[in-house]
Formats: sequence, C-alpha cells, structure tokens
Amino acid sequence: MNKKEIHPRTASKSESLDQRSEALLAKMTLAEKIGQMSQIAGTGGITAGLRKAVQQGKVGSILNEIDTDTLNELQRIAIEESRLGIPIIIGRDVIHGFQTVMPIPLGQAASWNPGLIEKSARVAAIEGASVGIHWTFAPMIDITRDPRWGRIAESLGEDPHLTSVLGAAMVKGFQGEDLANHDSLAACAKHFAGYGYSEAGKDYAYVNIAENELRNVVLPPFKAAADAGVATFMTAFSDVNGIPATGNEFLTRKVLREEWKYKGFVVSDWDSVIQLTTHGFAESEKEAAFEAVAAGVDMEMASQTYLYNIEALVREGRIDESLIDECVGNILRVKYALGLFEQPYTDESQFPEKGNDDHLAVARLAALESIVLLKNDYNVLPLNADHQHNIAIIGPLADDGHEQMGTWTFDGVEAWCQTPLKAIRDMLPGHVNIHVARGLDTTRSKHRKGFAEALEAAAKSETVILFMGEEAILSGEAHCRADIDLPGVQNELLAEIAKLGKTTILVVMAGRPLTLDLTRQHVNAILYAWHPGTMGGPAIADVLFGKSNPSGKLPVTFPKHVGQIPIYYNQRMSGKPATAQSFTYIDDIPKRAPQTSTGNTSFHMDAGYEPLYPFGFGLSYTRFYYGEVRLSDHEFRVGEGIEVYIDLTNIGEVHGAEVAQLYIRDRFGSITRPVRELKGFQKVWLHPGETRTLTFQLHSDDLAFYNRQMNLVTEPGGFDLWVGGDSNASKHAHFKINQ
Ligand code: BGC
Repeated sequence: MNKKEIHPRTASKSESLDQRSEALLAKMTLAEKIGQMSQIAGTGGITAGLRKAVQQGKVGSILNEIDTDTLNELQRIAIEESRLGIPIIIGRDVIHGFQTVMPIPLGQAASWNPGLIEKSARVAAIEGASVGIHWTFAPMIDITRDPRWGRIAESLGEDPHLTSVLGAAMVKGFQGEDLANHDSLAACAKHFAGYGYSEAGKDYAYVNIAENELRNVVLPPFKAAADAGVATFMTAFSDVNGIPATGNEFLTRKVLREEWKYKGFVVSDWDSVIQLTTHGFAESEKEAAFEAVAAGVDMEMASQTYLYNIEALVREGRIDESLIDECVGNILRVKYALGLFEQPYTDESQFPEKGNDDHLAVARLAALESIVLLKNDYNVLPLNADHQHNIAIIGPLADDGHEQMGTWTFDGVEAWCQTPLKAIRDMLPGHVNIHVARGLDTTRSKHRKGFAEALEAAAKSETVILFMGEEAILSGEAHCRADIDLPGVQNELLAEIAKLGKTTILVVMAGRPLTLDLTRQHVNAILYAWHPGTMGGPAIADVLFGKSNPSGKLPVTFPKHVGQIPIYYNQRMSGKPATAQSFTYIDDIPKRAPQTSTGNTSFHMDAGYEPLYPFGFGLSYTRFYYGEVRLSDHEFRVGEGIEVYIDLTNIGEVHGAEVAQLYIRDRFGSITRPVRELKGFQKVWLHPGETRTLTFQLHSDDLAFYNRQMNLVTEPGGFDLWVGGDSNASKHAHFKINQ
C-alpha cells in the first residue's frame, strides 16, 4: 500500500446519497447485498478465509480489528479484488476515549456539561479514526434506574432530558462537522430499546415495560440522537415485553422508521440475531434471520444467520427482495456519507499524535467536572497543602492506572494514566510527609493483613485520604452486583481508621452509585470520582487541595439501601405518598401496634422513602443563593412558550460553578405524570459575590407526553415549576396552559 495515495476522506457532494446508493444497488447480486448486511469480528490478521470472504463481497463490516496496516490491506482487497469494490466499514467500541481515556460515561454525565462531553467525544473520534476505525458503538443512551446493572457505568444516568442533551452532544462530538471528515466516526445510538430496564439489574434479563413508560422515558434520548443525525442504531439484547428487541417490528419499523423517518442503518448487538433462538423466539437460525430482517435490522453483528439464510428466504418468497434493498440502501448511504468510497484507506501520519497535550487537557477537565462532592463536614475540604505535615494515602485505588480507566477501555494506555498518588506527590510541597499504605490488595479483598500498615500510616498523619470503591472489572457489561455497598472489607478498614479521629477524606472510584449509608458515617468528606480515566489523578488532587472547585452533580439517584431500587426522582405519585411526618422507622414501631401505626404511606420501614443523595445533588466549595422564580407569563397557549428567570448569586468565598436545574410537574393528566421532571439546566461559573440572571426557555412542546391514546400531546392545565441546585429544588412558581 503506497502511502502517497492516501488523502483525507471527503465525500463527493455532487450526487445525493440516495442516488449513489440506488445506482450501486442496481448492480448488486443478492449475495453481494447479503454480504453488506454482515458484520464479522476481526481475527487479528487476515486469514485465508477472511481474504476470500472479502474478495467475494461477503463482508460489509468488520469490528474489533484495529491494526492500521491490516485494515488498509483488507480495504484494498475489498476495493481491488471484489467485483464491485465496496469499502468495508470498520467498527469498534470507542466508548469513553480511545487511547486517552475520559471518565466513564456516567461520570461524564455528572459534569452536566454538554460542550465538554462533545469535546471528549471529539478527542475519542480523532484518536480512533487515526488507526482506521470509522464507526463507534456509542453513545449508550439507555435510561436505567438500577445501579446493580453493570452497564449503568456506560449510561448517562436515569433522566430522559439529561440523557437526551448529553447523548446528542456525544453524537456531535463523534461525528464532527461532517461525517466525511477523515477524523469523524459514525456514532451509534444503543441499545434500542429498554435494555436498561433489565429485571433485577441483571444483564440480558427480561424487560417488562409499559408502552407509556417506553415512549415517555426510554425513547426520548433515542429520538434526540436521531434528530442530532446519529448515523446508526443498535438493537438491544433484551426481550422487551415478550418480543426480543432484535426481532421487534414495533421498535425498529414502527417507531424508528415510520414515526421518526430514520434514514441511518440499524445493526444488531453481538450475536443478538442468533440469540433469538436461545430466547425461544425463533425456532431455527433461519427463522432468527427472518425475524430480524422483518423487524428492520439491517446488519447482523458477529453471528452469520443472514449470510447463510437470507438467500433461501428470498427464494422461498418469505422475504421480498425490496426489503433487502432497503437494508442495503441504509448501509450504503452511511458508507457514502463517511466518504469511504472516495478514501477507504487510513494514514495515521495525517492525524495528531494520540495522547497529546490537548487530548490530555480535555481528559483532565472532563475528569475534574465529573467529580461530585457528596459530603464536606465543617468544610474540611479543600485541604490547605501548606498546613499539612503528614498525610496518609490509603487504599487499593490510590495508585492503579488500570483501575481508574473503568469499563470499556480496550485501547486505553495504562502507562499514560496519572494516578492520584502521583498527582498528590507532584503537588505537595517538600515538607509534607506522605505515608502510603494499600490496606487491601483489591477492593474485593476479604482479609485484613494490610490493616495494620494502613492504621500505622493513618496514626502518623493528621489527614487521611482513602481511595476506595470498585475496580474497573466490577461494572460494565455482564458485571452486575446484587449488593452495591463497598465490596470486601473496605467498610471495616474505614471503621478502624475512623476510630483514630483524624480528618478522614474518602475518594470513591466506582462504576455505579454505591450504597454509602454506613460508609459516610466514618468519614468527614466524600468525593465521588467515578472511574475518572487517564487524567483522574491530577483532577482529584486539584479538587482535594483547592486548585479547583468541584462542580459535578449526580446524574442518578443514590440509594441508601439496595432494597430501595428502583429509586429515582421522577417517579409517579402514589395515592399514599410518604412525608416526613407520615412514616415510621422499624425501630420506632411499638410492639402490637395497630396496622395503621406506621402511617400507611409509601416507604420502607428500614430505609424510609428518601434516597441517600438525590438526583442532581452535588456540593461546592462555595455556596449559591437562588432568588425567586419569575415567569414572563403565568398563562400561555399550546404552541406557545414562556421564559423563566432566576437570579443566581455566588455567596461564598471562591469562584465556582453551579448547575441550575429547572423541574416541572404537570398537576393532572390523562395518565398520571411524574412528581417532577427535569426540563432544563445551565452550568454557570460565578465569582464570589457575582449574581447572574438565568433565563430558561420553556415551550409547550417541552411539556408534551404520550397520552392514554399514545399520541404526543401537551395537555392544558396547571403546572408547578421549581428551579434549584438539585431535584429537591425549592424555588417555586406555577403556570397554566390553555387550549
Ligand atoms: C455490547 C455492545 C457492543 C458490542 C460490540 C456487545 O456485547 O452489548 O454494546 O457494542 O458488544 O462490542
């Protein structure tokens, strides 16, 4: 392959994508069409079988091959040795960074900063494209209310509005200004749909979800991604209400194609077509292929039921060839949009170096803004480095680059990771003694052999900083937990350290919300850093020592106890809601009390009704004051909108950011409505004493929902509105919408 022939991708704009793909389709045999619908897994090289399959036009896409020379050679075979020379689209899970790793998506969501999330995805795209990847399987925009589910790490949290805004930002970042740019990746909205509702938070489990919940909660982020121009969709592994998502005509034909008029292509999940047989939904592989094509799944990932069965299904008249043409047309349009016909090859030298300073700076900012300060008694944080003499750094996650990268980091470079220990050492003045003890081999360790050393380090210090949580392997796909407390004997170690009475700071790195009810009693401050990626260490050190002010807010509710799950802020109102006055803890219930003595409201006797930390919550080193909410109008009509104003003041001592959040409640509806719904947010940086008037636009369309007849409508009537710093926001107004 001669490098001089390589130029950046740029698609010809003279003919439309439709015209070009139709013209090519007209030349294709049925076998060649089926080839385009097949995505195979890379084998780490070019076997004779792979070469032949590419020559025969049987490979539309390859995933998980990232060696540039191999990819260029495969592409050359496709272009020069297959009959029609159709380029292969190369896919890879570039989920939160490529070699430079950003925080896990749930951590990025805690930044509530769409611009920063877009930049992070841009860096990931540039690095991924530089080796020859064209397509990433991200963003994952599954709404989930279950932190037991390992893939919550890869999600953007529990809220449809936040996920819609941040998911669209990721799509823009991956896809860049134009898909045809050589550093753009086609994005993939996944997993369509309902995967995050897996029963018991157990991966791949059954999903039971009412249509109104599906349409009002689960689907909006996918619609937002489609509107943002996402090039592809991926189906879910899940069985959704008895019909697996990979054979679900309602989802992929009715909603996606008919209602949303989506023009990109749909890929199955890994083996999810063949799994239709395991589900007991298709009797054979042939029937599995039939169901998936009938449902509108254009490309099959990994399994090869299409390759071996579609021809027969067409010959037998069970699948009309026009259906196959639709699938292939969808795929070809994306290949044309990516500019692959003009430039199928990749020249790494035309890209900036991976892991360059700019990329690391984005990773550092992304890590910084993802950190949530959950507790800060007596403002023990930030620590003043000049006042420290002896600091203990304890815990299995203080100095482990691999673990801080989190799940889905096939390509992340561990050697580039800057750990908290390294960053703290670099930052502290020479006079400070740092006493390091791992305490535990891993977060899961059950033995106490390292306790003595840890206690000794703590005893010598005035401040103890603990790095605990979960290793990367404890979250992610198929890594679900039934108990989401700190694993192993971390709580025991904490309890012993707490007895020493030192200033004790806990930094949690984890892929999910953990139940920290017991833990938080042992420490003075908690920073929740998720799995923060390559630059996690410097970001954490900056926050600990006050070089930066934490600004993250929770994108998901933190339960006190695993038994409260699902617990989320935008729940439906009960007919018997609990209030602070109307529930009783188990220990306070008298023996032989009458049945009604607990208040007969909706709560758990042993956990109450409130979470540990609400959605949207996060502290700062400064304080913010919200003025009263003002509305441009208190009544308006369907089709119109209003403006909402509020004055926000930094009343503390330091510069800081607040995420002002706007929630509404539709007081009555033809179906019951959530107690609160996020409808807008703004992240603003203010100097001490500075006041800013924030303006939110609220249109009647923002208040629309799928009603009893499954029509998207804004129902006239009364609404409550709140603005504040978390989902318990208290500054209130109300308005009315007229017909
Ligand atoms: C996951 C997808 C992923 C695919 C390819 C599957 O197991 O569910 O999200 O994109 O593998 O790696």
